[in-house]
Amino acid sequence: MGVQPRSVVIVGAGQAGCQAAASLRQLGYEGALTLVGDEPAPPYQRPPLSKAYLKGELEADRLWLRPIEFYAEQNIELLTGVGAKSIDLAAMKVELGSGARLPFDALVIATGARPRKLQLPGAQLDGVMDLRTLADVDKLKSRVVPGARMVVVGAGYIGLEAAAVAVKLGAQVTVLEAAPRVLGRVAGPEISRFYEQAHREAGVDLRTGVSIQGFEGTDRVRGVRLAGGVVVPCDLVLAGIGVHPNVEIAHAAGLLVGDGIHTDGQARTAHPDVYAIGDVARRPLVHYHRDGRLESVHNAIEGGKIAAAAILGQPAPVLETPWFWSDQYELKLQTAGLWTGADEMVVRGDPATRAFAVFYLKEGRILAVDAVNSGPEFIVGKKLAASASRVAPAVLADKSISMKDIGAKAVS
Ligand SMILES: Cc1cc2nc3c(=O)[nH]c(=O)nc-3n(C[C@H](O)[C@H](O)[C@H](O)COP(=O)(O)OP(=O)(O)OC[C@H]3O[C@@H](n4cnc5c(N)ncnc54)[C@H](O)[C@@H]3O)c2cc1C
Repeated sequence: MGVQPRSVVIVGAGQAGCQAAASLRQLGYEGALTLVGDEPAPPYQRPPLSKAYLKGELEADRLWLRPIEFYAEQNIELLTGVGAKSIDLAAMKVELGSGARLPFDALVIATGARPRKLQLPGAQLDGVMDLRTLADVDKLKSRVVPGARMVVVGAGYIGLEAAAVAVKLGAQVTVLEAAPRVLGRVAGPEISRFYEQAHREAGVDLRTGVSIQGFEGTDRVRGVRLAGGVVVPCDLVLAGIGVHPNVEIAHAAGLLVGDGIHTDGQARTAHPDVYAIGDVARRPLVHYHRDGRLESVHNAIEGGKIAAAAILGQPAPVLETPWFWSDQYELKLQTAGLWTGADEMVVRGDPATRAFAVFYLKEGRILAVDAVNSGPEFIVGKKLAASASRVAPAVLADKSISMKDIGAKAVS
């Protein structure tokens, strides 16, 4: 192992920060290690917040990423409920909201992202909510009750997952999406059509191409006013319109920041001893020969492992193609790769059976797969996307040929 730093500070105690701390210890780092998080809870997983936890099927302590004892056992100083206010790169210190100044030899910024706010009249009204933190979902849960009229603004994964849970809990759910189709940023039209139908069949009033003018109400939100004057009455609004990376302290410190903190393949920022990982980082997407900022558990975990290895001068882990999942009703969507830039889409299986996959190709090579209730398509598709393999569209679409055979015969 190379020369170890004496002290590592990690700012942001979410999925990425917690992984970086765990990986540093796993790789043999013995120096001081501080994990600073501004939320009161110990590091927790966010995916269940819009799924099982919102549904009431999971207790809060099942969300913790590691058992509470883990941090003391691993000699990780976990500071919760305290934010990092600034980074002094000349002095190599992080200043906390409490006034404490933590010295570091290496710093990992894992500050994640925060929900974009609706910039519309009435968006400040009580009952207009976000879904990012445990505190957010606890507030939301108390209002998603049978008969409650809920409007979800934005049909991305989080909004649609919450809509699926809420309608099952007996709420009357309306989803309003500005774009012509749901999941437009993250998936192709076939997947959009499928999920639009699934939500409508479940009783969700799903509307696309909708323009919202503002929110009505005095003490709390009572309705959503659409262009043209129609008002959708409601008791609560959930905004799911994307996130902003929490780059401010990095920017103020003089690091290179755009849509995310710019990093190299080792998670290093413009400063050699400062790393950025997870939702806040813009990183090389090696399988796609470009940079990008990803928002997924896989990206957060991989970032934590990459940063830990780089800090300790150890070889970088083997990188996977990005992957993601979403649970809505009894539908498990598993995505591997990034579909942007696809010039061909191949559907395998019949969407009407609720088990099918869409493969995205560019110039005959597989870029990505969206697999609905289709494990083999996801597993093999992930490998094919990682190696940008060529498979004839007719073969991909042919359900009589197993994914195992397709994987074995693919040309990379
Ligand atoms: C409701 C929901 C459902 C999701 N579902 C899925 C899913 O199904 N599959 C999937 O792959 N991904 C899912 N995601 C995305 C995934 O959870 C995120 O990509 C992942 O949590 C990112 O981890 P992170 O550590 O980068 O950021 P975060 O988890 O956001 O953690 C960052 C932490 O840093 C804290 N922080 C910020 N600034 C400071 C500061 N100055 N000082 C101290 N602390 C600070 C933040 O408060 C936060 O606690 C979901 C996200 C949400 C919100």
